[in-house]
Amino acid sequence: MNRYWNEKIETMELSEMRALQSERLVKQVKHVCENVPYYKDLMDKKGVKPEDIKGIEDLHKLPFITKDDLREAYPYGMLAKPLSECVRIQSTSGTTGKRVVAFYTQHDIDLWEDCCARAIVAVGGTNEDVCQVCYGYGLFTGGPGLNGGSHKVGCLTLPMSSGNTDRQIQFMMDLGATILCCTPSYAAYIGESLKEKGYRPEDNKLRAGIFGAEPWTEEMRREIENLLGIKAYDIYGLTETSGPGVAFECCEQSGMHINEDNFIPEIINPETGEVLPDGEKGELVFTSITKEAFPLLRYRTKDICVLSRKKCSCGRTLIKMTKPMGRSDDMMIIRGVNVFPSQIETVLLNEGYTPNYQIIVDRQNHTDTLDINVELSPEQFSDTIRDIASHEKKLASAITTMLGITPKVHLVAPKTITRSEGKAVRVIDKRKLHD
Ligand code: ADP
Ligand code: ZN
Repeated sequence: MNRYWNEKIETMELSEMRALQSERLVKQVKHVCENVPYYKDLMDKKGVKPEDIKGIEDLHKLPFITKDDLREAYPYGMLAKPLSECVRIQSTSGTTGKRVVAFYTQHDIDLWEDCCARAIVAVGGTNEDVCQVCYGYGLFTGGPGLNGGSHKVGCLTLPMSSGNTDRQIQFMMDLGATILCCTPSYAAYIGESLKEKGYRPEDNKLRAGIFGAEPWTEEMRREIENLLGIKAYDIYGLTETSGPGVAFECCEQSGMHINEDNFIPEIINPETGEVLPDGEKGELVFTSITKEAFPLLRYRTKDICVLSRKKCSCGRTLIKMTKPMGRSDDMMIIRGVNVFPSQIETVLLNEGYTPNYQIIVDRQNHTDTLDINVELSPEQFSDTIRDIASHEKKLASAITTMLGITPKVHLVAPKTITRSEGKAVRVIDKRKLHD
């Protein structure tokens, strides 16, 4: 069986990887300094010259880039290649503000698709597979990235894009899709819709799913695996570094291998910028060492996770990152307590509820309020209707145990919370609207 897409890179000794990263970093810093005045200015301000960067050990000397820099430099300020060499743009989903536009040369697209091919092979994908891609196509990187990776592996690719769930299901069943690629929330929705139509998990031919683009919990993974009768794997990426495929999960299903031949990861303390050792939780920072058109050095992702070099049973030596528990901007501070939506999701699924929920934060009389709407499944709806108040109380108390603050829980009727075909909208923070 073909276990790796690029065995040499994916199983490279650490010292060899370090040497490769160093060589590419030095070249990349030079390329950026010569072509991106915006970054050269940042370096000048920090008093760093390109020749100060002699290898990966000097990475920490470089200034960070943030999303604000990208917004300031919009649209062409970070471009490092002439437009005549660029062949495409992609753009962020705009989850946290103004969209960011990223540029690609043909070489950049090849590398990106290669990363996605590694992800597909890591879940057992081969040219025998039928790969259904229902991430959005167009500006969003999900569709084009996995589509390209699937082509490279030689899978029969179904470029479905997101939405029209009836058609997704028809093609999935008629063409015998074996790999499903979409957001985890949409995967759960497809699973739910299959069940409603009377299909059992064993009725589909799916084996594996590659789900990412938004945070999801281990509980959500089990829910999707049971609904669809598959193994569910995580994939991570962001438009600023290319798109999905920056990191991908292997058969161990415990964290994602980072394609460190292309992206050097660091974990920093988000408050001080200090680099933290492997194993400590902090903000993930990436340096793109192979991208030509939009090569970001030390880009702060705002995603919070942990890196680990623990030996992986799949044989890959690429460093692993844990599932990001959410972005630092997803973190809500409610009555002084830090709350991530993923903590609430964990409790809901452990208590047997659906992954369809919405969190509403507001402020009344100078006090923060936390309301959580949780959708009941049709079976739960008929069972609990007489006793709703006591179920709400029980769930609220389980959430209080997890968070340390007490929410108001509202159990709502099936199908009343809007489903997302792309990234799910989990939080409505009305405090921001008043500000
Ligand atoms: P936007 O920032 O507008 O959402 P992108 O579509 O480029 O733009 O999304 C990238 C972000 O999506 C990442 O920074 C991260 O927060 C989130 N993300 C992507 N994949 C995952 C994943 N597997 N788990 C958790 N979060 C993810
Ligand atoms: Zn592995």
